[in-house]
Amino acid sequence: MNVVLLSTYDLGHQPFGLASPAAWLGARGHEVTLADLAVQDMPAGAIRDADVVCFYLPMHTAARLASNVISKTRSLNAKAKLIAYGLYASPNAEYLRDLGVGTVLSGEYERSLCDAVEGCAPAQIVSMERLTFLTPERAQLPGLERYSKLRIDGEARLAGYTEASRGCKHLCRHCPIVPVYQGAFRVVQQDVVLSDIHAQVAAGARHITFGDPDFFNGPAHAMRIVRGMAHEFPGVTYDVTIKIEHILQHREYLRDLRATGCAFLTSAVESIDNDILEKLDKGHTRDHFFTAFRLCRDASLPLLPTFVPFTPWTTPAGYRELLRVIVECDLVDHVAPIQLALRLLIPPDSRLLELDDIREAITHFDRAALLHRWSHRDPAMDELAASVLRLVSREQKENRTRREIFRSIWELVNERAPENFDLLPRAAIPYMDEPWYC
Ligand code: SF4
Repeated sequence: MNVVLLSTYDLGHQPFGLASPAAWLGARGHEVTLADLAVQDMPAGAIRDADVVCFYLPMHTAARLASNVISKTRSLNAKAKLIAYGLYASPNAEYLRDLGVGTVLSGEYERSLCDAVEGCAPAQIVSMERLTFLTPERAQLPGLERYSKLRIDGEARLAGYTEASRGCKHLCRHCPIVPVYQGAFRVVQQDVVLSDIHAQVAAGARHITFGDPDFFNGPAHAMRIVRGMAHEFPGVTYDVTIKIEHILQHREYLRDLRATGCAFLTSAVESIDNDILEKLDKGHTRDHFFTAFRLCRDASLPLLPTFVPFTPWTTPAGYRELLRVIVECDLVDHVAPIQLALRLLIPPDSRLLELDDIREAITHFDRAALLHRWSHRDPAMDELAASVLRLVSREQKENRTRREIFRSIWELVNERAPENFDLLPRAAIPYMDEPWYC
């Protein structure tokens, strides 16, 4: 069969979610066309000739962008079977069906996607199958120079992306992985991960982002992979995401991460307010964050925290306190400005809906935006969130530095500039140059 796989947005990465199923479909004898619409045009000819068109929806922005793409696909080819797959497929099944999608797949989707293409799968699957993966097929995808790069030591390094595991053992209330994986995680076999890295290094990658929701859900598996990578590809750096709780639990591995080429570690800190952390069921406290930060600093491993600063529980004092802590811990250069502007996202099926105060804050479900809209009981907090977002968007477009944008945010909420701000040591913290995280 002629199959087209489309990705709308994957955080500036060459999509694993196209390359991995391409290998599976190819092995089953199908003709596969891949297109990453974040950097390419719609492949109109291939869509007209397709028997099946599949849409990869790994995140909220991707799912929102897909509605337009699905309509355009339908106008090019009224007969093709439409399939949506990825983390945001099943939670939005009803919406996708209304757009004409026949099958929605989430979880471990590669085998079910092949079955669905061949017409032998039910209309909806959330698979937790333990798959034996195939090396992703990346030859058809745009070159790595079209994607997010690692900014380090004054240079922009070509970066690849792979996944050593999917899902997560944890049940944080705000996390979109939880409604699908419900505490399960699945590993990608070591030989597959290393051969995927090999292909990307051969294509010019000098850095690899591991997109695992949490790299230390399986720390032994993770460490085997990065030790193998350091052995096979010395000099190639990488970055990972690890939760605060795991940084503390597996602190003995931090120096090994550094020694094997970890350029930085991202951690979803989300808040420094213990009450909010409890609401989010994050499994860490404010003090745990400070300890993790010290452990990483002692291991010379830059910790890049992410935040959800605007929640129904955030107060003006709480937001100012977050900015103060960032200055006091000398983390201004570690935090992407968008992280200071994000508002709590409540997708369908979110565990947040368990909370009375969340249900009270919700005004309605916005079908087009694929989320529950909520408002703060203090309208000034919603105005502040909107002002910070406008400020960050504007100053990012003007190519302002992280430090300049931080200062503008500080001045928006405080009367005076932070004391001695211009004297703070400037740290050259490595980061990926894709500014949006959502
Ligand atoms: S640890 Fe991270 S990936 Fe896992 S449930 Fe919590 S937020 Fe999601």
